[in-house]
Amino acid sequence: MEMIHSDRYQYCQAIGQDSHRFASQAEQKKQPERKLVLGGVVIPDTCPLAGNSDADVLLHALTNAVSGLTGVNILGKKADDMCLKQGITDSACYLAEAVKYLDQWELLHLSFAVEAKKPRLSPWIDVIRENIARLTGLTSDQVGLTATSGEELTAFGKGKGIMAFCVVSARKPEISSKR
Ligand SMILES: [Zn+2]
Repeated sequence: MEMIHSDRYQYCQAIGQDSHRFASQAEQKKQPERKLVLGGVVIPDTCPLAGNSDADVLLHALTNAVSGLTGVNILGKKADDMCLKQGITDSACYLAEAVKYLDQWELLHLSFAVEAKKPRLSPWIDVIRENIARLTGLTSDQVGLTATSGEELTAFGKGKGIMAFCVVSARKPEISSKR
């Protein structure tokens, strides 16, 4: 029996989520060089998020979405080992680790939804989309990013942190068997 790839595809969507609180004044004093990083882009003159890594909530949501596709979880034990044992704090490295397990899956589209009272993200949206596209080998029109203020309803809406969701769409060739 010979396995052949048909010209048909299997499609899948997967979701990822993440949230971080903003660093306290004491934490900022301890780490004055710490910056707010969103989608691998440094947003200047803003309060950084707290975390062992760079706390890039967008790349963490994306990493979780890729794990949702592959079934191989990276955030948690694996990223903690990379961060605490190897000193890797760049979340793009955790994303690269998750992407290694994509195998036949081809990413088609990434859709991000962010809830945060601050900072105002609209001036940064296209820069972030382009950088995430670069990190994933997509074009920026395959990356969508919306941001809402949260209307002071949740901790994120009250300005205590940032929450992000990411949905990935992907396809892989359907394998059929020929006798
Ligand atoms: Zn995170």
